[in-house]
Amino acid sequence: MADLKPKPLESAKLMKKIMADHFLEADAASKDPTRRVAWCTSVGPAELLHALGFVVYFPENHAAMLGATRQATDYIPAANAIGYSPDICSYLTADIGAFLKGKTPLQDAYKLEGVPRPDVLVYNTNQCRDVKDWFSWYGRHWGVPVLGVESFRGVGAVTREHIDSIAGQLRAITPKLEAIAGRKLDIDRFREVVRESRETSRLWRETLETATHRPSPLTFFDGTIHMGPAVVLRGLPVANEYYRALLGELSARIEKGVAAVDGERHRLYWDGMPVWGRLREMAVQFLGLRTCVVASTYCSSWIFDALDPAEPFESMARAYTELFIVRDDEYKQRYIRRMCEQFHCDGIIWHDAKTCPNNSNNRYGMPERLAKEMGIPFVSFNGDLNDLRCISDEQVRTQFEAFVEQLGG
Ligand code: SF4
Repeated sequence: MADLKPKPLESAKLMKKIMADHFLEADAASKDPTRRVAWCTSVGPAELLHALGFVVYFPENHAAMLGATRQATDYIPAANAIGYSPDICSYLTADIGAFLKGKTPLQDAYKLEGVPRPDVLVYNTNQCRDVKDWFSWYGRHWGVPVLGVESFRGVGAVTREHIDSIAGQLRAITPKLEAIAGRKLDIDRFREVVRESRETSRLWRETLETATHRPSPLTFFDGTIHMGPAVVLRGLPVANEYYRALLGELSARIEKGVAAVDGERHRLYWDGMPVWGRLREMAVQFLGLRTCVVASTYCSSWIFDALDPAEPFESMARAYTELFIVRDDEYKQRYIRRMCEQFHCDGIIWHDAKTCPNNSNNRYGMPERLAKEMGIPFVSFNGDLNDLRCISDEQVRTQFEAFVEQLGG
């Protein structure tokens, strides 16, 4: 198994370039007195910020970089030492810990001194409260405003009341953002960004859905890397150019019958966060098991079908409330069932991430209910998105191996 390697996608080179350009631009903007930088949560109101001319930076993406480069675990204790519990989001603790230590992966990757200093931090609590606490720490540190949207949680059907409340909050922060941006919101520009973001979302959906083909041209582990532009550049034409290139490459793979996992025997669904510091090891293990993890809740969380330039505020409110993470367990169960059917999955992996209860859906009997309903097996494993002290590598390896063996074939 030592010589097995995930098949690289050529488009990765283009992605590296556009992600590099993104960080270099954010750095340049933070040093330019005529420009403004906004930090935004990953499912925050990025479209509004772009429309107001902010350069938008996403700390969750930075925290995932800390995880993927395996630096996160080293920095988490620095945040614990100032009172942020080891049990809360390890994106938060890794990111603040790294900042306290004066470290960032941007130093090695792009020769930048540090993260771009924000003029404002903008959150949406649709995913969790941790993002607000996280941004509030930086807000206090730099003495800059922290603005946000307080979202609903555990939503069943998304109603008019939900939309009106969230759209109202977005409207309410707009004058404050305009004052920081030094310009009025141009509604036509806003519609244009929402249109581009809708297109990013459409292309990202199409990209992920190439994995409905047998054999799949793409794995969940590829998806976690190639989702970068959908998260940090949605609403900008460069993201759409990128996904057109990636789709071209994946379509060519499908035409030629090129599989991401040679000899694909099994197809699995992944629920929960990735383990950023173990992406490669897990990808290689599944190659050896001739099993493709074809779909996930996580990668699909940046598909925003509701975005509509005709109603930019309301459609953003809907898109950011219809999200999986915002919904109740009945909705989540139906969603995962639909995904497993669409992607022809014969098993489900549930990641119970120690520091992210918000993305760990295995804790209240859902795996058991789905297994009974669908007649497909599952495995739950304990791990974490960033804190590698929370994962027992050997135990998880053995769990995956035994699970695939149970699938037979
Ligand atoms: S959803 Fe989980 S991983 Fe994401 S910011 Fe919140 S606690 Fe952290």
